[in-house]
Amino acid sequence: MQSLTSNEVAGFAVGALLLGATIAAPKVDAFIAAAQRRSLGMCRKCGDVKNVACGRCKGTGSIKSGGIFGFGEPEPSNARSATCDNCQGKGCFPCPECSKS
Ligand SMILES: [Zn+2]
Ligand SMILES: [Zn+2]
Repeated sequence: MQSLTSNEVAGFAVGALLLGATIAAPKVDAFIAAAQRRSLGMCRKCGDVKNVACGRCKGTGSIKSGGIFGFGEPEPSNARSATCDNCQGKGCFPCPECSKS
């Protein structure tokens, strides 16, 4: 398992996190990314990105109301979206693990 440098793995983990923050990555991907970060000594929660995606709006900053189809599709004009009150529309929080050091 020496074929990847730690920088490459770290880049992958960060990329996976950013992707997950945008489109709600499957839990298995998050689990793998967390395991990689732990093995690299990176922040287990955010992968040294310093931010964690909001779990309520999945990092989008807004919550769709009136439908279960939320992500990745253009919304018709009658679909209502509300600012996420969990993250105030930011879609992410400062990482609690990093910010407490
Ligand atoms: Zn939110
Ligand atoms: Zn962190």
